[in-house]
Amino acid sequence: MTVSKAFLKQNRKKRLEQGHPWVFPGEIEKIEGDPQGGDIIHIYNHVGHFLAQGFYNPLSQLVIRVVSYSEEEVDENLFFKKIEQAWKRRKWLVPEATSCRVVHGEADFLPGLIIDKYEDVLVVQILSLGIEVRRQWIYDAITKLFNPRGIYERSDVPVRRLEGLEEREGFVGEPFDTKVTVIENGLRILVDVAEGQKTGYFFDQRENRAALKPLMTGWGSHHGIKVNGEGHPIDAKGKEIKNPFWDGAEVLDCFSHTGSFMLHACLFGAKKVTCLDISEKAIEMARGNALLNGYLHRAEFVAANAFDFLREQVKDKKLWDIVILDPPAFAKNRQAIEGAIRGYKEINLQGMKLVRNGGILVTASCSYHLSAARFLNMLQEAAIDAHKVLRLIEFRRAGSDHPVLLGSEETDYLKFAMYEVFDR
Ligand code: SAH
Repeated sequence: MTVSKAFLKQNRKKRLEQGHPWVFPGEIEKIEGDPQGGDIIHIYNHVGHFLAQGFYNPLSQLVIRVVSYSEEEVDENLFFKKIEQAWKRRKWLVPEATSCRVVHGEADFLPGLIIDKYEDVLVVQILSLGIEVRRQWIYDAITKLFNPRGIYERSDVPVRRLEGLEEREGFVGEPFDTKVTVIENGLRILVDVAEGQKTGYFFDQRENRAALKPLMTGWGSHHGIKVNGEGHPIDAKGKEIKNPFWDGAEVLDCFSHTGSFMLHACLFGAKKVTCLDISEKAIEMARGNALLNGYLHRAEFVAANAFDFLREQVKDKKLWDIVILDPPAFAKNRQAIEGAIRGYKEINLQGMKLVRNGGILVTASCSYHLSAARFLNMLQEAAIDAHKVLRLIEFRRAGSDHPVLLGSEETDYLKFAMYEVFDR
């Protein structure tokens, strides 16, 4: 079978050469052959120099998605090798993780394929036609590589429509119990891969959650607690404090989902954590996870809309040592970005107001339409309105099991910042 060829225009931005893995319709000068949706197509520049090969989909704005920069055969064996390579990279960079992202789409040169490993269960999400038509290769490869207890597909996302694909979800092969206890930084987190957000859990913040460690203690003096001559904590009236977490932070974990930030806060010594999520199901999950790890007495749970809750707490003059904001992606597409920024600004503004003077705001955004620069700008605007001065502790990205291609800002989606917040 001869492979079709796409020749790119002379006057285009050299994005492909800069590492960007997509070709848009306007960049193509001509196509030779009769490629069908899902086929492999070879990409050449205007003088006929081979650049790469990729999946062709004339229905999509991402008309070609790069699979390889060589002319190697794209067959079942290549797919196996790519997945094997991706897994080796995780074992090398996150050796302690038994659950992690194994394949992160374009950044692992498998455009539109996500594979997450939840201990002995694998979850697959397919977002491109090229992967869709070859999905049996994926299932065979991961069965051979991991011998999993089960495979579950979570292709229940609307972006599939942009590739001309219907949403799909369910067991691949035999049904199994979709509840898995994931181990992360030594904590046990019960996740339902069939029910949770995205593929069930967010591995991308593993290292960011671990980075909370030094923040969770050192708050006793802020709460008027002193240490007496014998080294015992005493309150303002001189009474000895029995709570072993007397030096821990009071934390508000907004958009808590599974409660993973709450669990880490407790692990690192927080005194009290309030979990907030709009979904009753998520709150139940967080409560279950607190119980599983022995933290129930240090956690409380609220099912409410964060926009209302934060405003009400500000009105009631409530204060926390640490406020964590890990909202869902408010901007699902480029057009929605302005509205999304207003949403981010609102929760960050209210969140800052709820931080005790000298306390900490932990804030994240997983929307890739919101660049890091705009994220920082949004925080600045919120700080102006909230009359706060913010001092950065650390700015972080996704963990190394979510690699980022230089030249492809779409793969660099997660922003995570920890700030000290001062009254102004
Ligand atoms: N911090 C979580 C991930 C957050 S996912 C973790 O580490 O696992 C986003 C969560 O926000 C979801 O659980 C969703 O139910 C919740 N959510 C979405 N809109 C909300 C709103 N307006 N108010 C409160 N929670 C909301």
